Amino acid sequence: MVEEAGTLVGPLPGLQRMLGRVRGSQPGPTVIGVGGLHGNEPAGVLALVRVLEELGWRGGELSGEFVGLAGNLAALAAGRRYLGRDLNRSWTPGGLAAAKDAGPAGSSEDKEQVELHSVIEEVMADARGPVFLLDLHTTSGPGEPFSTVLDSLRSRKFALGIPVPLIVGLGELVEGTLLGYLANRGVAGIVFEGGKHDNPSSVDASEAGIWLALAQAGLLDEGTFPEVTVSRDRLSAETKDLPKALELRYRHPISEAEGFKMLSGLRSFQRVGEGEILARNKDGPVRAPSGGRLLMPLYQTQGEDGFFLIREFHPSWLRVSEYLRRARVDRIIHWLPGIRRDSEGDGMVVNRRMARWFTLEILHLLGYRKEVDYGDRLVVLKQVE
Ligand SMILES: [Zn+2]
Repeated sequence: MVEEAGTLVGPLPGLQRMLGRVRGSQPGPTVIGVGGLHGNEPAGVLALVRVLEELGWRGGELSGEFVGLAGNLAALAAGRRYLGRDLNRSWTPGGLAAAKDAGPAGSSEDKEQVELHSVIEEVMADARGPVFLLDLHTTSGPGEPFSTVLDSLRSRKFALGIPVPLIVGLGELVEGTLLGYLANRGVAGIVFEGGKHDNPSSVDASEAGIWLALAQAGLLDEGTFPEVTVSRDRLSAETKDLPKALELRYRHPISEAEGFKMLSGLRSFQRVGEGEILARNKDGPVRAPSGGRLLMPLYQTQGEDGFFLIREFHPSWLRVSEYLRRARVDRIIHWLPGIRRDSEGDGMVVNRRMARWFTLEILHLLGYRKEVDYGDRLVVLKQVE
């Protein structure tokens, strides 16, 4: 991939929330594209503008609707991840209510969230078919594009239309994302990571992701829109040496006080060995707790995740898990030793002393990925159907 070439992507002042809206003459699905929920990630916004401009001429050939929204307007203008708080962490009923209740006294992000929410509600109310979310992001370190979903079958199917590595388990780890909020409203969604924040090729990759998402959702026909084929070829070529499916294995949380500093020259998807030094903090070296591939090494001052470790699995397991879920195997999973249903009914409780090693793997296949650790027992929840 091309890096550090051409004009670097910078801050975007003066944007409107609604970047554009193209309503097809025929009914069909609605795709909501969001760019710049993090203000230092302008590539998604620029890519949305490009596709909206192209579709502006050809909207009549669409079935359904494509809406492009800008996320954190004030942070996009400042070129910062956020001003007061992360706009992609408070999409819970409580977080949203607090932002609304704050009124005129609220923070910059409170106002952004309330406005974005009302626009999304309005778009959803106007939808003439199923609604999809394409949430466009970029990373502080270099690396190829990838996608991540909350592990529902509909979201996976949407994601698999874009030939980049699909990472499962990442969405379940982060609380209060827009993706999670809309998933609870029945919206299938993907987070698409287009590459490095300030790299012009991240705009191209994000644009390719948008065309493919529109085709996969069923808004446009590949025969009429050759951009879809071009985009597929582009992303396939860029990620041809990478696994198709990976699973999150580890997140390295950091605190502001610890003086975390990533070693220079690391990139997403590179292989790392157990014990390899990846960063330093005030206590000394920070090592990889296990081998695997690195994801999103942190090269910016704002953020709570130092890095992630992921591991590839054979894509045929995606089909196995689809089969298991369609067969509703989770209705009998509590027959395995060491597993019982949570009394609240929405999760499984794993007794660590009794359960076998494969128990968690099976729960993962069934879509139970969100883990709450109570020491001797682990409660595993299904985030979305
Ligand atoms: Zn982001």
